[in-house]
Amino acid sequence: MTAGPAHGSNDPCCEDAGAPAAPRTWTVDEHLADVLAAAAPLPAVEVDLLDALGRRLTADVTAAVDLPPFDNSSMDGYALRAADTAPVALAVVGDIAAGAAELPEVGPGRAARIMTGAPVPPGADAVAPVEWTDGGSGTGEAADAMTAAVAGETVQVLRPVAAGAHIRRRGSDITAGTTVLTAGTLLGPAQLGLLAAIGRATVAVHRRPRVAVLSTGSELVQPGEPIGPGRISDSNSFALAAAARAAGAEAVRIGGVPDDPAVLRRVLQEQLAHADLIVTSGGVSVGAYDVVKEALQPLHGGEDLGGVDFRRLRMQPGKPQGFGRLGKDGVPLLALPGNPVSAYISFELFVRPLIRTMLGAPDVHRPVVSAVCTADLSSPAGRRQFLRGRYGTDGTVTPVGGASSHLVGALAHADCLIAVPDDTTALPAGSRVDVVLLTD
Ligand code: AMP
Ligand code: MG
Repeated sequence: MTAGPAHGSNDPCCEDAGAPAAPRTWTVDEHLADVLAAAAPLPAVEVDLLDALGRRLTADVTAAVDLPPFDNSSMDGYALRAADTAPVALAVVGDIAAGAAELPEVGPGRAARIMTGAPVPPGADAVAPVEWTDGGSGTGEAADAMTAAVAGETVQVLRPVAAGAHIRRRGSDITAGTTVLTAGTLLGPAQLGLLAAIGRATVAVHRRPRVAVLSTGSELVQPGEPIGPGRISDSNSFALAAAARAAGAEAVRIGGVPDDPAVLRRVLQEQLAHADLIVTSGGVSVGAYDVVKEALQPLHGGEDLGGVDFRRLRMQPGKPQGFGRLGKDGVPLLALPGNPVSAYISFELFVRPLIRTMLGAPDVHRPVVSAVCTADLSSPAGRRQFLRGRYGTDGTVTPVGGASSHLVGALAHADCLIAVPDDTTALPAGSRVDVVLLTD
């Protein structure tokens, strides 16, 4: 992490040695790069197959068995010798169900009734589907289903059957010893099905990051509690904990930590014991009672939890942000601004990529597409603006709500962010814009 202001010779703030240095500001990309610089995938953990859904393999998986594990029938019918067929009557010597372990020997002039998935018996080299036979009815007419069968009866095979027909050969899908999935593979239903098919009960994936989500603010009450004068419901801790889970993390929600640095420091100390990442909301701007700043700046007393750099980003919303590492393990902490839209957008831009890095994802960012904006836009100079929008299947995007960062109603109806470049101040309707798609 590069905490604190940079003092390069090409830093405009330092050109005039006589003037007081303006505090450094960070672009979105600089802050993101700083956050991701030290992030790495978490170590492997062996989990049950269904718990691996949506996670990535930490190692190649090799099959210990052939698939199919034995030659088996792909049809309900009769196992026989191909050389015996053409219209012919064969003596039925047995009945083989799926799962059968004892198999009859099929000699010349003989057949065994066999079900789909059942092992091909010794002596047989092909299967005649029941529809190609009279099904043992003695009528000589094609059967449309298996009848209750029985050894001792005769089956009429009505047409020739090629050697190997309707037999699924051992190892024709997967050969024992081959790599069936490589490290980094995202495990979806088909991959989990394959792992189960080769007999794996558990699999090694990256441990999910444990994320502690804290909201700060003495004005906050928890949803369902009575709201007194000047109080508001805590929405950030829910939105951010949900966003952390949606990104693949395990999230613990600690709602409504009061604006008291001592209380916040105690909560942070507790969370440091088991968190891989801490996310706070509120208390990072320049007002009084900015509790996160107060609690984490060592000059405000108490044991130093670690360096958190509070900085100003050239973005809107989300200008004030904090980033640092706490405790002996250097647990990353991202201090997000309190306004709900700012907090959510900051999470999307900075926290989600960090979580996804910890999960071993190669694609840590949301997809960005180009779209035609249906409305005029204005944006502050020198700041990248992220407006909420709805992305249309016709390649257009329409802003939802205004630019203000308290508009949770509009946020809930948006499915994307419209990113207006740092130095663009106005865009007429019909302009192409970059759109960050938020839908999973
Ligand atoms: P702050 O960054 O703490 O100054 O908060 C900025 C604005 O966001 C204030 O209007 C807060 O009341 C509001 N706010 C802060 N935290 C939350 C929260 N957890 N849920 C909803 N609104 C919040
Ligand atoms: Mg606050």
